[in-house]
Amino acid sequence: MISSILIANRGEIAVRIVRACREMGIQSVVAYSDADRHSLAVHMADDAVCIGPPAATDSYLNIPNLVSAAIVRHCDAIHPGVGFLSESARFAKEVTDAGLIFIGPPSETISMLGDKVVAKQTAIKHGVPVIPGSAGSVSEISGAAAAAEEIGYPVIVKAAAGGGGKGMRICRRPEDLAGILQIASGEAEKSFSDGTVYLEKYLTSPRHVELQVLADSFGTVVHLGERDCSVQENHQKLVEESPSTAVGDDLRARMGEDAIRMFSALDYVGAGTIEFLVEDGKHYFMEVNARVQVEHPVTELVTGVDIIAEQIRAAAGEPLRITQEDILLRGYALECRINAQAPGKVTHYYPPGGFGVRVDSFLHIGAVVPPFYDSLVAKLIVFGRDREEGLARMDRALSEFEIEGIPTNMERQRQIINSRVFQSGVFGTDALEYIKKEIGV
Ligand code: ADP
Repeated sequence: MISSILIANRGEIAVRIVRACREMGIQSVVAYSDADRHSLAVHMADDAVCIGPPAATDSYLNIPNLVSAAIVRHCDAIHPGVGFLSESARFAKEVTDAGLIFIGPPSETISMLGDKVVAKQTAIKHGVPVIPGSAGSVSEISGAAAAAEEIGYPVIVKAAAGGGGKGMRICRRPEDLAGILQIASGEAEKSFSDGTVYLEKYLTSPRHVELQVLADSFGTVVHLGERDCSVQENHQKLVEESPSTAVGDDLRARMGEDAIRMFSALDYVGAGTIEFLVEDGKHYFMEVNARVQVEHPVTELVTGVDIIAEQIRAAAGEPLRITQEDILLRGYALECRINAQAPGKVTHYYPPGGFGVRVDSFLHIGAVVPPFYDSLVAKLIVFGRDREEGLARMDRALSEFEIEGIPTNMERQRQIINSRVFQSGVFGTDALEYIKKEIGV
């Protein structure tokens, strides 16, 4: 087993991993930048080590600093968390080359899944349905135009190295294609140093449905049901729930079989997510995220499985403690992402509590939200016997939650949860457009 983990991350996910380590009897060492010296994760961890100045490129993305910090502090593993280096094949390789355990899939697997064109081809090879699109990447306008004609407009131009909705553009008319290709490719080049793009049919109002998967090094692969993440802004998730109102036992079983087949073929180890778009009761592969996701607590609440603990065990070469038969989806869970709309210092903090409420956050009175990183400051997750109870509980929890000193999106989240569109359970990835109309913003 692993005895000490360097946590190469910050914020609420670092706190989440520290908590898992403590329960597992593992020493936690938080790597922090100068901006996070007084953060909750640093305060809670057994040990902490500064890895550089505030800018992420100098600290949380600084591979030599992170690897040497782990060695100096006698860690035997590194947990990359989410974002930052969590999907860096190079980081995974440098960690293992240094004789440490990388808590994630092997470097080659990350590299393969990181190229969405290759990932899609792998899905096709293993009989997983995909969204109609260009056969591979598109570079010249003539090839792209021919592919788009064949797929049929509207099409979406996507970055092969994409993430966080960057390098993604919708094209509705042939005459716009050349310009949009150039913009998307330029954006991809800027964000990922890789301008490779591909085309897909643009589905106008699909559901975003993803399955949580866990796998160990003995070939056991299980799925933990789905999360519906259709409420998005600029292709970024805002609200996540499980089960999805669009998924019945049949569709879940079909997606589950595809997920398990794909992950088995990849020799995957650890926690991962397979993302699908669902339209008219059919699912289409979109991508695999080779890491734990922000919204993993939703699945933890409906399955009772500690995803981070199983991920760490799998990385340590231990078998999963669950089989597919053990996994029963019970009740309903809902997560609202609480984002800071500006950096600042928290002057007042009162988190909600009570039955069925979980808060994953790094905030407290005096906590600083630095300007350098992601805006996520808290995840509010509730459990209910059913969707109706869950929604009422989320409304209650949001009404209790008080954060002062930094502006947040809490009021907006409350409007979303209480909107007729969200309450109806019938919506697609364009849900927010309709919700905004309803609430008049
Ligand atoms: P990223 O990795 O940048 O987050 P994804 O491939 O996961 O990109 O897609 C993010 C979101 O973009 C999806 O949840 C969906 O809302 C939208 N999207 C992606 N592909 C399509 C498509 N072919 N049709 C319609 N919407 C899409």
